Amino acid sequence: MRAWIPLPIVCVAAGCTTAPDPVVIKEPLGPPTPEIAMTQDYAIPVLMYHRVCDLTPDEAKSPILRDLSVSPKDFEEQVVLMKQEGFTFLHVSEIEKALNEGKPLPEKAVAITLDDGYRDNFTEAFPILKKYNVKATIFMVTNNFDRPNRLSWSDAHTMNSRAVSFQSHTVSHPDLTNASDEALRNELVESKLILEKGLGSTVTSVAYPAGAFDRRVSMAAEDAGYLAAWKKGGGTVQPYCAANPYELPRIRVHGRTDIDKFRQRVMSGTEILAMRARLAGQES
Ligand SMILES: [Zn+2]
Repeated sequence: MRAWIPLPIVCVAAGCTTAPDPVVIKEPLGPPTPEIAMTQDYAIPVLMYHRVCDLTPDEAKSPILRDLSVSPKDFEEQVVLMKQEGFTFLHVSEIEKALNEGKPLPEKAVAITLDDGYRDNFTEAFPILKKYNVKATIFMVTNNFDRPNRLSWSDAHTMNSRAVSFQSHTVSHPDLTNASDEALRNELVESKLILEKGLGSTVTSVAYPAGAFDRRVSMAAEDAGYLAAWKKGGGTVQPYCAANPYELPRIRVHGRTDIDKFRQRVMSGTEILAMRARLAGQES
């Protein structure tokens, strides 16, 4: 192992003529951190999940539940695929910050988001996130805390200390486009305050319930102090999204999304960049 050995220092000015023993500083142990290529020209898939669980036979009769729920086996297979493909996992707050400040992001990045705050995010998804050392963001409906089958504050504290970031998904998950001005403001301001006070971390963004928003809703999100807001659909996050930070896109992962479809969705950003590079090559 290489070690840095500084030259002996002779303190002439102080009248001292003996050289102190050289100090050997050892390099820290552990594997070196791989270099991550950064780019100003990114196309990042932000994946939108809800539940990560196996459904009971009764639950499986519901098309809505089947659509919202990815099995733990499928979720792990998807995480492994992204790891093998060399994706860097980001929190949505890192993407928002880069957009806001015009900074670069990793060349091949992805973000996992989980909406609503189901308990299986802690019991099923979190062990997989930990196993593969992967970051994720939970968009939490704050009224859901400590409700049956929903995350407890204790779950949230445990996850928040281990690379799971919490952002707002409002207080009660209403259709914000139908909310009165006062209710709209409350949903946005209160949920931010509750999360920040409860978890001691900064909340920078909100995901619109069911992806529903309009101009009044996005302006209210800005007024409530959010840096960004996330909708449903719209492809990958690209630098041009900085012009509309309250309409950031996400890609749904459905219960029926098989691994081939998943690969297509998660590789969509990489393909956009490759296509741009090909076009740039043809033009030059
Ligand atoms: Zn939701």
